[in-house]
Amino acid sequence: MRLSQFHLHTSKETPADAEIASHQLMLRAGMIRKLAAGIYTWTPLGLRVLRRVETVVREEMERAGALEMLMPAVQPAELWQETARWEQFGGQLLKIRDRMQRDFCFGPTHEEVVTDFARFEIRSYKQLPLNFFQIQTKFRDEIRPRFGVMRAREFLMKDAYSFHLSHECLGKTYQVMYDAYARIFTRLGLRFRAVDADTGAIGGSASHEFHVLADSGEDAIAVSNQSEYAANVEMAEALAVGSAGAANAALTLVDTPTQRSIEEISQFLDKPESECLKTLLVQGSEGLVALCLRGDHELNEIKAGKLAELGGATALASEEAIRQQLGCNPGFIGPVGLPADIPVLVDRSAALLSDFVCGANREGAHYVGANWQRDASPTRVVDIRKVVAGDPSPDGQGELELVRGIEVGHVFQLGQKYAEAMGANVLDEQGKARTMYMGCYGIGVSRIVAAAIEQNHDERGICWPGPMAPFQLVLCPIYKKADSPVVDYVNTLYRELRNRGVEVALDDRGLRPGVMFADLELIGVPHRLVIAERGLENDQIEYRQRQATENELWPQAEVLTRILERLGKNSDSV
Ligand code: ATP
Ligand code: MG
Repeated sequence: MRLSQFHLHTSKETPADAEIASHQLMLRAGMIRKLAAGIYTWTPLGLRVLRRVETVVREEMERAGALEMLMPAVQPAELWQETARWEQFGGQLLKIRDRMQRDFCFGPTHEEVVTDFARFEIRSYKQLPLNFFQIQTKFRDEIRPRFGVMRAREFLMKDAYSFHLSHECLGKTYQVMYDAYARIFTRLGLRFRAVDADTGAIGGSASHEFHVLADSGEDAIAVSNQSEYAANVEMAEALAVGSAGAANAALTLVDTPTQRSIEEISQFLDKPESECLKTLLVQGSEGLVALCLRGDHELNEIKAGKLAELGGATALASEEAIRQQLGCNPGFIGPVGLPADIPVLVDRSAALLSDFVCGANREGAHYVGANWQRDASPTRVVDIRKVVAGDPSPDGQGELELVRGIEVGHVFQLGQKYAEAMGANVLDEQGKARTMYMGCYGIGVSRIVAAAIEQNHDERGICWPGPMAPFQLVLCPIYKKADSPVVDYVNTLYRELRNRGVEVALDDRGLRPGVMFADLELIGVPHRLVIAERGLENDQIEYRQRQATENELWPQAEVLTRILERLGKNSDSV
């Protein structure tokens, strides 16, 4: 591509309403232009990147055996009423009406349409399994569209849906798709993790989210530093830390007149927070429940909410309720001497404590030297704390690190939910009608572009991983007169590279070198060759990789071989 004939529209100004790097850089590089909130035009430059992502996604879907199709973006309300999602989907569903006053929506996802397709097209078990995919525009009327194409209202998604006679068969395709997703993100050159997103609430059906790791990510995830383990922080299992010591000290009541928080108690008694017990009273379904944690740990409300004793409640009991039952402020509660009808649920790590500090259930007093069994009995030892960095990984390999991620893909075993609601049956070997099993697999194609920039940029602009770059290489001729030997040399090199299938740009815009380089660094072209008059005379062509700080000087005779090598292309034919 000769850049004089391309449309580049870069800007030095950081747009005021763009909060994160990818949004700022996509606007500054001129990849997208906002039309309305959460709705963007992809410029020729932006589209080149989007198409690269699409190509990798399409190739890997086909390799995984999925068949490409294209479903309508506009979908009739009747289908959504069959699954009750016309009401349930909520405000994200953009409802529209045609001239006959019939209701439609602009598809935010395609389970209904594809299930409708399947109930007519798939009749026999012999046709199964089948896996369909499409790459298509979705619309979700997000409450807060933000960060550009990262959370847009109109965006490009690859969605796939598989159909099966049995749950086992679904499990197999799920694994194939999981592997395909891992290949896609690896090929795109992104650092990512597959996060177990199984909430247990959906009948134990498997679900994984694929996250690109970046500090600006919306999701907090816990990952092992030595294995593939990754889980949403809210879900990550917290193993016991610390070791059980012997009960040496005697249980002693001490005055703590105004010290209520763990921090205050720890300082006042000169004991580390990890040796002070935090006791929280929650109003459970059948009365108060005590939750005990180590003072330096925090309650994970999602885990606690799943405890049978709490029946989903996690709201702390009011000060009034605590005063009424125990006669003290919540800052002084502890497991020793609690009324017997209050269950004491102790976190795994807190259960290992010995000679610890805890509230004495009376105003202005704590115990020191408290010990489990001898002084207080746990009703149950449970996992209720938030994991912290350095915790042992639940899979037994390495330690947890807390990182942030951007969800770029999601694979999900839907089971029979949609097929049942919409009567998508096939005849089995015995001629009996059976409801199909389904899986669904989404990738945020346009979000990947933004996520890749979050992960790969510097103060000068975007640093595309090679496979996503709009141009792999740019040639920068620097000369004064039109008959300069630089012109000939560059034109020949340009032609040779194009003949070898290199996505090469020739910057023939006639800009000053500084301005030209700044532009090319902003849009993130990974490799640059500068051909100047003096360089040609001295047989020195300047090569620079986007993130390098120094030029390399190459002799003319080796330029082609070396650049093809850097681009990972076979240079046998040079
Ligand atoms: P999120 O939690 O980020 O809203 P989601 O759970 O609603 O995502 P899915 O319904 O699983 O997303 O959609 C599949 C993929 O589509 C997501 O993994 C994400 O990459 C992408 N995606 C979802 N919503 C948006 C959006 N508003 N803008 C851009 N991409 C999106
Ligand atoms: Mg969403």
